[in-house]
Amino acid sequence: MSRVWNFSAGPAALPEEVLRQAADEMLDWQGSGMGVMEMSHRGKEFTAIAAQAEADLRELLAVPANYRILFMQGGAIAENAIIPMNLMGGRRVADYVVTGAWSQKSQKEARKYAEVNIVATSEASGFATVPPMTDWRLSADPAYVFTCTNETIGGVEYPFEPDLTQIGCGEVPVVADMSSHILSRAIDVAKYGLIFGGAQKNIGPAGLTIVIVREDLLGRAMPHCPSAFDYKTVADNGSMYNTPPTYAIYIAGLVFQWLKREGGLAAVEAHNIAKAKLLYDFLDASDFYENRIDPACRSRMNVPFFLKDESLNEAFLAESRAAGLVQLKGHKSVGGMRASIYNAMPIAGVQALVDFMRDFAARRG
Ligand code: PLP
Repeated sequence: MSRVWNFSAGPAALPEEVLRQAADEMLDWQGSGMGVMEMSHRGKEFTAIAAQAEADLRELLAVPANYRILFMQGGAIAENAIIPMNLMGGRRVADYVVTGAWSQKSQKEARKYAEVNIVATSEASGFATVPPMTDWRLSADPAYVFTCTNETIGGVEYPFEPDLTQIGCGEVPVVADMSSHILSRAIDVAKYGLIFGGAQKNIGPAGLTIVIVREDLLGRAMPHCPSAFDYKTVADNGSMYNTPPTYAIYIAGLVFQWLKREGGLAAVEAHNIAKAKLLYDFLDASDFYENRIDPACRSRMNVPFFLKDESLNEAFLAESRAAGLVQLKGHKSVGGMRASIYNAMPIAGVQALVDFMRDFAARRG
């Protein structure tokens, strides 16, 4: 068997330990005589798996007791509709901060359910930065303020946690799409009304959506909100109103246990800082490659970069692939290259990328 260094933005590489454990347990989970995929979601085995996964996630993120953790389906794009359907609560306006392709998509979808006010946007900079909170212009009585705290395509990450008390609007819930950096760093969950993300980047397989929601925001869904997407219904039924994505929850649970063994989020964050520094320092010192994002807002998870001579792009991709470094092509809307270096990417993988890039530049520069 030979594994490559996989820089995919998602679905993305998972920790090898997790994949090995899943393979070992594929036919017989802990003496049950069944694989997890074959279990009833209401049986005692799977109920225990889901409860442990939820408890471990709660511990890792230090989720306060007045927040519910929901295991849903539909991905982050479905949440773009599910969120306004659940949170408008009779209000007219929802506020959005637009920092890239994903928050742009979110505000467009929300217009089907709400009047959308763009609180701030970094579009003029080509989405290379995050507007500081002092520039945010909230509407008079918004149902919530939506943020995407790591823009996977642009490679822009909030350098601060949105704390609306700083601008005198502490009562407005902050919603955060954390799909591509959840569990990469310690956060203060209490600063948010709702956190959500698809699992397929930093958590596990596609098919599972994590929602962490403050209890007082439950029970406000629009009458036409599908029951399976009504947060209160999902919460009241312990995420088992409909059949949850059982195998994805099981793998996510193994990833949570792996994160705990790694030392929890403080240790994981330090590791991620070291990985990102290795790659950005190399890019900044190079006259062959460049990253175009405001250094204060560079994502630790998704690192877009360009070859200054773009005629070498195809050769770069072919040679990197031959060297066992895959999925480096940038998103089509941005071009260039992108290395996604989520939790499961060890520093050795980033070092292998930097070594290859240095060698390529020496040969082609
Ligand atoms: N939001 C962000 C920040 C993402 O990175 C993605 C990833 O693809 C999405 C939303 C869309 O997620 P999904 O395809 O799971 O709906």
